[in-house]
Amino acid sequence: METVLLDDVLHRFLLERAGVRGVLVRLGSSWREVAGRADYPEAVATLLGQSLAASAMLTGNIKFEGALSIELKSSGALRLLFAECTDQGRLRGLARWNDPLPEPLVVSDLPGAVMAITIGHAERGQRYQGLVDLNHPNLGEALENYFNQSEQLPAKILLAAHGEHAVGLMLQRLPGEGGHSAADDEDGWNRIEHLTATLGADELLNTSPEQLLYRLYHEESVRLFEPRPLVFGCSCTRDRVESMLRSLGREEVEAALEARDGEIEVICEFCAQRYTFDRIDAEHLLSASHNAEASTTSQ
Ligand SMILES: [Zn+2]
Repeated sequence: METVLLDDVLHRFLLERAGVRGVLVRLGSSWREVAGRADYPEAVATLLGQSLAASAMLTGNIKFEGALSIELKSSGALRLLFAECTDQGRLRGLARWNDPLPEPLVVSDLPGAVMAITIGHAERGQRYQGLVDLNHPNLGEALENYFNQSEQLPAKILLAAHGEHAVGLMLQRLPGEGGHSAADDEDGWNRIEHLTATLGADELLNTSPEQLLYRLYHEESVRLFEPRPLVFGCSCTRDRVESMLRSLGREEVEAALEARDGEIEVICEFCAQRYTFDRIDAEHLLSASHNAEASTTSQ
């Protein structure tokens, strides 16, 4: 029998009997677009794919405007990792690293590693930011801990990625939902945690969302909500590149023009879109600085 795998979707579901809600994200071409932007070593690609799936997964149960991003910075071999999902389900991401990478690549071993989750509009300054404690063996457990430490509902999170797909599964225990007593809830949560713990990365990656949910939770009366599409997409614009150049200042812009025969070329690292500026463009954007100054933001 041929298996139809539904890619680039976010599924929300409810396990009614156990009082648990869940999000299952499966990325296909959206992830391959991101993965194909650089010659990522396997360990970096795996972490980037997991982060991208996680960024989409974390949007599943929140109402927000703008974007949700996961950003890791360190002074070690993995210098930067960034994954983002917008309120429209548009995904982008990238990583920067230095060879040689430690083997295995463990985030908690990277010197000075800091991971932040940011939600909102960068331009409008409406942002919520939380730091993720990285002292956990993998990203899924670090995010689980983030939920368990905060005011949020306790969570169980699994993440997996390879060259073709990236998958994220999150389960959250609902408090006293559906008229259950606290003892019933406790039991339901334990049961779901147990079922979920049997799931390996291969099964997570190679099973379609509906099959996966059926296989794991068929005795739990799964209620599936309308799936949401996810797609690769970048939010770069010529305006944003202009304000970036403006923030460099006249001296640097002129030096760049000088060095490149009178043309500045900026290539977006997320989507490879090219933006070019000649001397006239540059003069225009530098002289327009008086009214743009107020809205200039750091990226
Ligand atoms: Zn772009």
